[in-house]
Amino acid sequence: MEKKQLRRLDTMVKNKRNTKAKELILETIKNASTAVNKDIIQEEIGNVIDRATIYRVLNSFYDDGIVHKILGDDGKQYYAYCINCGEKKHLHSHFHFRCLNCGKVECLPNEIDVKLPKGYQSVNFNGFISGYCNQCSKDE
Ligand SMILES: [Zn+2]
Ligand SMILES: [Zn+2]
Ligand SMILES: [Zn+2]
Repeated sequence: MEKKQLRRLDTMVKNKRNTKAKELILETIKNASTAVNKDIIQEEIGNVIDRATIYRVLNSFYDDGIVHKILGDDGKQYYAYCINCGEKKHLHSHFHFRCLNCGKVECLPNEIDVKLPKGYQSVNFNGFISGYCNQCSKDE
């Protein structure tokens, strides 16, 4: 086979692998009832996809309005599935809640109407609350 053909074949294999990675990661995010971080995704998928690929795929999902990012008070970046977002435009302002007992991070359903000063435009909302979720605070 010629070098050119080989190179094309190599690109094809890489693209296929990328598509598979995207499918797997999206499935993991969709199936999770909570927001997920890279460690959770890696654990779900296993070592077939490396961290750099996970990182790249998550960022492209963010750009496409498929997931939103949440920076947790534990310093970790979490990702959650978007419902009504579009390309480069995220349309939600809700708080995120991290349970100090079970560790899950959830999107709280209440959308917050934040009034910004005139001329200000919000792009990302990073409200974060930690405490005990409805499951973990039951016994008290
Ligand atoms: Zn979004
Ligand atoms: Zn909990
Ligand atoms: Zn959220």
